[in-house]
Amino acid sequence: IPVQVRSELTLVAQSFPGLSHKYKLMDKIGEGTFSSVYKAMDLRDVTKKSFANVGWMSQMEYKRGHPLVALKLIYVTSSPQRILNELQLLHSLVGCPNVAPLVDALRYEDQVIAVLPYYKHADFRDFYRDLPLSGVRIYMRELLEALSFVHEKKIIHRDIKPTNFLYDPFTRRGVLVDFGLAERECVPDPSACPCVKGGLSNDEIPPENILPTTGYLKDDSRPGRRANRAGTRGFRAPEVLFKCPNQTTKIDIWSAGVMLLTLLARRFPFFNSSDDIDALTELTAIFGRDAMKKCARLHGLGFECNLPHLEYMHPFGSIVYVAVLLDAREGDTFADDSPAWELLSALDKNGRPTDTPLGKDYAEALALLRECLMLDYKERVTADEALQLDFFTRHTA
Ligand code: ADP
Ligand code: MG
Repeated sequence: IPVQVRSELTLVAQSFPGLSHKYKLMDKIGEGTFSSVYKAMDLRDVTKKSFANVGWMSQMEYKRGHPLVALKLIYVTSSPQRILNELQLLHSLVGCPNVAPLVDALRYEDQVIAVLPYYKHADFRDFYRDLPLSGVRIYMRELLEALSFVHEKKIIHRDIKPTNFLYDPFTRRGVLVDFGLAERECVPDPSACPCVKGGLSNDEIPPENILPTTGYLKDDSRPGRRANRAGTRGFRAPEVLFKCPNQTTKIDIWSAGVMLLTLLARRFPFFNSSDDIDALTELTAIFGRDAMKKCARLHGLGFECNLPHLEYMHPFGSIVYVAVLLDAREGDTFADDSPAWELLSALDKNGRPTDTPLGKDYAEALALLRECLMLDYKERVTADEALQLDFFTRHTA
């Protein structure tokens, strides 16, 4: 352990009276925007007493007979409301092997520490290029099992991404962490967004010519729109980008789809936008303008974009894109007789997998991808539905 980290551990232990009797700090394992996370020994074995005999608790790590824990020191800059929210949600999410349970919580003045079991995991950047399709299946199954549990409790995680899903490629176990942005799903409010009743009807659609074809509308007098946009760029669902106030657990499914896309295309980060407008443009390049327009309309908005249509647009546009990338990975250029086109024919008109030279397994993975990346959240699968797709059910765990 570097000297700097060692002195930081000492500082943390000193600034939190009583901590060192309960937990022995061993190392620093993470630093985010809202917290620092440390690896520690649970000297009183509370982790063991609470969880050692419960069936759903996956393998616990030990050191000198003591369970290992992760101490999440939440920065004092987080609002008390926000810290309480995270702890309450964590507390209500105990009982799934794929969701890290709250073991203990400590407070000293304005400092709060959440205690979780420690999960050995690998850095996503070290394995995403090498995970074979069978590994992608297990990774996604673990993630969707976690989401199924969280969503059943009507909780939206809001920040599904690789650093918040701790995966160990050797044991092939994955655990969801970081409920810092999580929230309860609200009852949909039809007056807040037309998506609740299926989007704008034809006579509610404003004429297209009120919008300029290039650039922004000058002196726009229409009221602005506000919605929760918490999350991470590149993983935001279209309804978040379109500032829909009725956000549902489906926003997590979208982010899980982006993770699958990353694993299949072996590109990380896959999306690399600097803002929401950029992010919409990236989606337009994949799904096409018409699909984006339709999605905007669902949320009561117009959508104008002067990007040319992709030349090779397919009803399942995103799949073309992955196929192209898979193809590029093999070092070939995109040509009419390339495997990309064969991959395309891996799905029939209804998006169901068919057999192809590249294998039915890939076709099944693409079918899952398609279902997770539906622009319309009502058409997007739930975690439970996703787990019933052939990609999972045709292969035993
Ligand atoms: P933040 O809100 O700052 O992003 P996280 O809860 O995501 O905090 O934790 C930050 C990092 O700390 C994670 O990406 C992970 O590497 C590590 N970490 C968090 N919880 C655990 C845990 N229970 N076991 C092992 N490592 C953890
Ligand atoms: Mg995090």
